Amino acid sequence: MIGSLASPYPLKSITDAELQQLTQTLWNWKICEACQNGETCINSRCSWRRSARLERFFDFYKYVTSSYVPDLLPASTPALRNHDDVFEIIRLLQAYPDMKRSELTHEYFSKRDRPPPSSDQHWAFNLAVQVMSMVKCSAENQPSGLLELGTQPIQWLYNESLAEFISRAFPQKDTGNLHIYDGSGEIRDIKSALSAKRLRKIAGLRFQGTDDLRNHLKMDVKKGLWKFTITQPSSGST
Ligand SMILES: [Zn+2]
Repeated sequence: MIGSLASPYPLKSITDAELQQLTQTLWNWKICEACQNGETCINSRCSWRRSARLERFFDFYKYVTSSYVPDLLPASTPALRNHDDVFEIIRLLQAYPDMKRSELTHEYFSKRDRPPPSSDQHWAFNLAVQVMSMVKCSAENQPSGLLELGTQPIQWLYNESLAEFISRAFPQKDTGNLHIYDGSGEIRDIKSALSAKRLRKIAGLRFQGTDDLRNHLKMDVKKGLWKFTITQPSSGST
């Protein structure tokens, strides 16, 4: 028997209660008791009322997690046994953004009786980071067979913290000002006046969704395509 596994896809399905836990973990959503019991919401301040708007993000989460196949050795258990494990790793990453990847991985898996192989541990952390940041990342020396097709992942180095990885993935650039002369001959910065509607109508641009945040607002000049993320989860919102 290879490892201890009831299903080759331990995260294949997800319940509404687990999706609620996901929003509580990522954005500290305050969800009323009725919603937690699957009943009609009567609390106007309940965060779950906004859940319909997150359908695309939930689809992204389901896609990322349902395709997880543990890399198992005999007598080992999957790094991600259920969705709770994903949420726990996310909470650890949120709590220690300045701790090195190698230290975090050791800290988390050393508590297990039968720790999974290191390749599976790295896979679990890559997946948690992808859920948090919508960026595909890989570990150093990760076999190419374990990498997903599509956008090339960025390596999150063992001696690098999550904060360092994110700032490398999203280098800050000064976009400068977009100055034009208005009708009266005055110079105006038009950046604040740019909207998706105007860009589509006036500049003839088209928009395309992306599930990789690195592609957010990237423009394909030849095709006149501007990419935007499938959803914009706001950190800390309630
Ligand atoms: Zn509610």
